[in-house]
Amino acid sequence: MPITDFDRYPLLFGPSPVHPLDRLTAHLGGARIWAKREDVNSGLAYGGNKTRKLEYLLPEALAQGADTLVSIGGIQSNHTRQVAAAAAKSGLKAVLVQESWVDWPDPVNDKVGNILLSRIMGADVRLVRAGFGIGFKESWQQVLDDVRAAGGTPYAIPAGASDHRLGGLGFANWADEVAAQERELGVFFDTIVVCSVTGSTHAGMIAGFAGQDRPRRVLGIDASAKLDETRAQVAKIARATAELIGLGRELRDDEITVLEGWAGEKYGIPVESTMDAIRLSGRLEAMIIDPVYEGKSMAGLIELVRSGEIPKDSNVLYAHLGGQPALNAYSGLFQ
Ligand code: PLP
Repeated sequence: MPITDFDRYPLLFGPSPVHPLDRLTAHLGGARIWAKREDVNSGLAYGGNKTRKLEYLLPEALAQGADTLVSIGGIQSNHTRQVAAAAAKSGLKAVLVQESWVDWPDPVNDKVGNILLSRIMGADVRLVRAGFGIGFKESWQQVLDDVRAAGGTPYAIPAGASDHRLGGLGFANWADEVAAQERELGVFFDTIVVCSVTGSTHAGMIAGFAGQDRPRRVLGIDASAKLDETRAQVAKIARATAELIGLGRELRDDEITVLEGWAGEKYGIPVESTMDAIRLSGRLEAMIIDPVYEGKSMAGLIELVRSGEIPKDSNVLYAHLGGQPALNAYSGLFQ
């Protein structure tokens, strides 16, 4: 069914802003670079890409009579913070399983940034230490059982709201939003650059843009450091979302592009190109990006523009997916 027919619980201000990055463009001397800003898409706890996805999951949770959103992520997960925000706004409870996905030694890692915001919003934050031998499934199942045992009705949201039937819809709709903004601005973005980890942001975009008349490149930049898994997940969600919104054809393999080269060796650990991208974006545009996700996708964009892989006559749209609260746990990098 067409995406406009799916229920959507309003969490966003409206269309997220699109604007040119003129100083970055001049500095790199290549394609014209623009940004579409999911980091300011909502008034709820700093927004971000998950807030957009959750607009399509919340109606199902409410229709099922759920009273508690249950989700999982790393300690500095932007996703779980946005689940806490969606729960607060819609009058639900949230239980968040925070696992030690990133071996990050900062002493305030489990006290500041995203996890602090989730606590402020009243979420039941459960730290699960790696090393306790509690695997993903057990800790997740435990929480669902606990909620039921206490008489509650949980609604389970997987990591990144990605491996979920409705997880791709938020960014399939983003594609239509871009097309409308292009008409207003009189510009066509032939290349989109987006960070990809759990996959449904990039996948939703692929499915959404595939239904439009004019083809364009949607380049995912891997920040998971597990390229094969991310590629497989993006392909799976893109195809499922395309079917869900009635694309009417199979997506081709060449429509699914996840690029490697900027993730470093580990998810959550920045490398030199990440730090350079964060500083460049801050110093030229005052556009703040984080060391886990957007610093890596921006590093990719910088190199693709510099090398001419994205040609000089291109208009490239950088999807800023949020994530700045995690910077608080990485302050040691900037001393
Ligand atoms: N950017 C930020 C700020 C995120 O929080 C995430 C979440 O994982 C991503 C990018 C990657 O999005 P996805 O998990 O949908 O691939």
